[in-house]
Amino acid sequence: MEIAIIAHDGKKAEMVQFLNEHSEILHQKKITLISTGTTGEKVKKAGFEVNALLSGPLGGDAQIAARVAEGKCNMVLFFRDPLDKHPHEPDILMLMRLCDVHNVPLATNEATAKLLVRAV
Ligand code: PGA
Repeated sequence: MEIAIIAHDGKKAEMVQFLNEHSEILHQKKITLISTGTTGEKVKKAGFEVNALLSGPLGGDAQIAARVAEGKCNMVLFFRDPLDKHPHEPDILMLMRLCDVHNVPLATNEATAKLLVRAV
């Protein structure tokens, strides 16, 4: 199972903490993580294996959206920062839209991500 993780700058520490709290489930269920670029760097430093794509503003969200459309990515955990501006807002909306088009579970905050990961 492939899970995409994305965290806006204000939420990256929260993402690392979330993964640490759920590392057992991630290992047990043989989950492959993919991520946007900078999120991936942070997560790798914390000791997780992740396939980091481009940084979000350079197309990373769009790459993940493409994997969702192709049926390759099975879940998206997207820790959005609603209090910040994002130059790639159109890509973010595209990713969320494609999750809905293809009925792929999408969490946009930590509380929902917890529920989704526990249900894997
Ligand atoms: P980043 O991208 O992980 O490269 O910071 C996240 C985002 O979509 O803003």
